[in-house]
Amino acid sequence: MDKTDIKSMNLEELTEYITSLGEAKFRAKQIYEWLHVKLVDSYDRMSNIPQKLRDLLTENTTLVALKQVRVQVSKEDKTAKYLFQLHDGNLIESVLMHYHHGNSVCISSQAGCRMGCKFCASTLDGLARSLTPSEMLDQIYRIQASTGERVSNVVVMGSGEPFDNFENFIKFQQLLSDENGLNISARNLTVSTCGLVPRIYEFADMCLPTTLAISLHAPNDEMRKKLMPIANKYSVREIVEACRYYVEKTGRRVTFEYSLVKGQNDSAECAEQLSRLIAGLNCHVNLIPVNPVKERNFERSEAADINKFKNKLEKNKINVTIRREMGKDIDGACGQLRKHYKDEIADIVKE
Ligand code: SAH
Repeated sequence: MDKTDIKSMNLEELTEYITSLGEAKFRAKQIYEWLHVKLVDSYDRMSNIPQKLRDLLTENTTLVALKQVRVQVSKEDKTAKYLFQLHDGNLIESVLMHYHHGNSVCISSQAGCRMGCKFCASTLDGLARSLTPSEMLDQIYRIQASTGERVSNVVVMGSGEPFDNFENFIKFQQLLSDENGLNISARNLTVSTCGLVPRIYEFADMCLPTTLAISLHAPNDEMRKKLMPIANKYSVREIVEACRYYVEKTGRRVTFEYSLVKGQNDSAECAEQLSRLIAGLNCHVNLIPVNPVKERNFERSEAADINKFKNKLEKNKINVTIRREMGKDIDGACGQLRKHYKDEIADIVKE
């Protein structure tokens, strides 16, 4: 049987577990603090916990602590990309970005991805597996512990589709915002989805103040199907409808991500169609010049076309920004560092 994943438990569950071992309740609070506030990576460092209990926990639980394999720091903007190894050898990546308002960490929700978006490196080798709540949390914990700087914002925009790992994502969010833990409010959390419509409704019904980002990337189904296989399942209209519901339920503005691919989705007509599609919705559009992935032949749009696209949206009273690109010199886009590392290892093995 699998060992108990201690870092995926909330305080209530941990208290139940610790008392079931015949230990006093206050030990749970102490251990929870070591795990989620002091961010230690082993039981040996829990100095106020008796050795006997530490041994018992070592025997019966797993304490997830990600192994840092590689860090690449951008010379341009200090953005740092971390490659972590999971206990089973799978690799995931996370990114630390420095903003005026604080440090933001972008985490992965799965090792690989099965959504198959054509421009994305994370999906090239398919889905290896979903991450546990503890593995999502520990990306933030390891980065905060190693830099010694507080993380104030989290975005779930790394590899994987968080709504394809829904239950674990929800548990992760609960632990992240727990006032006994790192206490990062749902307001400072953004989750990005390719648009799994039933999950958007489910998430809306939880009435959390999380920012929802939708990877739209096209203003109609025909065009979207060429970029994202998920478009065969849910239409852009259904997605926008679900977003309206989200805004109604949570009072939060929705973000649409739109990666601009030269000659595919960057025309003035596309901007018009997009404006009509989302008119009247409390939303914001984030334009991202596509980051070319070596395995695919997508090119980024010309700067002039990007500006035209933006101006068109603005003229139609749509809030829009062009995403500031960070860490372009360090395999910035989704899944690129992991993919390069895996290719490098494969080359070494072949030699
Ligand atoms: N699966 C989720 C979250 C991960 S991707 C989702 O689809 O939203 C985070 C964002 O980066 C998504 O909008 C994704 O479409 C985009 N993205 C992935 N690869 C990219 C690339 N090479 N260039 C530009 N944007 C990319």
